[in-house]
Amino acid sequence: MKAEIISIGTELLLGQIVDTNSAYLAGELPALGVDLYYISQVGDNTGRIAEVLRRAWARSDLILTTGGLGPTDDDVTRDAVAQALGEEMRIVPELEEHLRQWFSRRTVAMPERNLKQATLVPSAQSLPNPVGTAPGWWVEKEGHIIAVMPGPPREMTRMWRNEVVPRLRERVTGEIILSRTLKTYGVGEGTVDEMVSPHSRSSNPTIGTYAKPDGVHLRLTAKAPTSEAARALIAPVEEKLREIFGDRIWGADDETLEGAVGDALRSRKLTLATMESCTGGLLASTITDMAGSSDYFKGGLVTYTNEAKIAYGVPAQLIEAHGAVSQPVAQAMAQAACRALGADVGVSVTGVAGPSSLEGKPPGTVFIGLAWGEKARAHDVSFPGQRAVVKRRATTAALFLLRRFLQQG
Ligand code: ATP
Ligand code: MG
Repeated sequence: MKAEIISIGTELLLGQIVDTNSAYLAGELPALGVDLYYISQVGDNTGRIAEVLRRAWARSDLILTTGGLGPTDDDVTRDAVAQALGEEMRIVPELEEHLRQWFSRRTVAMPERNLKQATLVPSAQSLPNPVGTAPGWWVEKEGHIIAVMPGPPREMTRMWRNEVVPRLRERVTGEIILSRTLKTYGVGEGTVDEMVSPHSRSSNPTIGTYAKPDGVHLRLTAKAPTSEAARALIAPVEEKLREIFGDRIWGADDETLEGAVGDALRSRKLTLATMESCTGGLLASTITDMAGSSDYFKGGLVTYTNEAKIAYGVPAQLIEAHGAVSQPVAQAMAQAACRALGADVGVSVTGVAGPSSLEGKPPGTVFIGLAWGEKARAHDVSFPGQRAVVKRRATTAALFLLRRFLQQG
């Protein structure tokens, strides 16, 4: 089945919003066995939307649209679909009743302009929208399908999953594409590629390597009649890669380093504290991206100056002897974080974010300290990069080392 996506909205063309709807839908189609050939964006204009729809109709079996289903004058997607199909829109009494109830439950009168959300054309069925006023349309005609969905991502993804996907599953035949992503850290993209190359001749699954902020990702992509069959093709190759990379693979698919660290701390009933210099709180912020992180995260100190480091327990003579950006100070910071916040495990970051050097050390010099009970150590994780990149990568390095520390002690 050949598909195309049409994102509707003048806001898109003005650069005021980014078209995340089409990226979401594009990511969903391979697993359904649907081939995506085109993505278009068009403003809120009936004639132009109808034109894009007619072109899509001529070359695609499945057309997915998002946006323009609201009650206002600039929401004209329904009119455009009707125009492209050459069909008449009419108000459907059941939909009108449903809409009026939606408003009366909220004890507000329904503005008459909302009535257009209760319309259909003869080849369309209505797709319920429990989280908004705009139902979608499912059009089936002459071997083509148009699924018309609202613009707000929360409404669109819900309608997609609950209404559109089940209908598509009944109609799509052929092979599906399934991907599995293995996430590595601490190995450069070129080295990863070299390590993978004896296995990368396989064409099903294929193996792709991608450099990401949290390390190099390996994506295994298999094509098969069912997702079970695709998973069975991926499993032995994944096992091989796990043998090759060992603990440098830290997670898969949607897993994040902060999630992996959180799971490790929670399962071992340990608490964590941070002391950060060059990352300015980014590490603590990333740790708290996890819901429920208060189970294990005691808190973080941002000790940007030497005085602040000393005030929270880093020995002044260590800073004098080695400089603030050094392994001994990183280690002392991790220990000080544990003591100051009463945590079992401490992690620290000290480094030079740039663009200028500090203590004669170049931008990108970064040390991560780890402390746990009597144990403490520090790692040199220096890398080049601009300020924002150094902060991001230092945070990733801290999370990765922390996770390994928790696993191995
Ligand atoms: P509403 O009833 O809210 O007006 P609608 O179906 O008419 O919904 P639009 O008016 O086109 O949708 O868009 C409403 C909002 O949904 C936009 O302001 C934007 O926040 C979000 N949105 C719309 N299209 C997209 C898109 N392609 N990607 C991401 N967000 C989008
Ligand atoms: Mg709108």
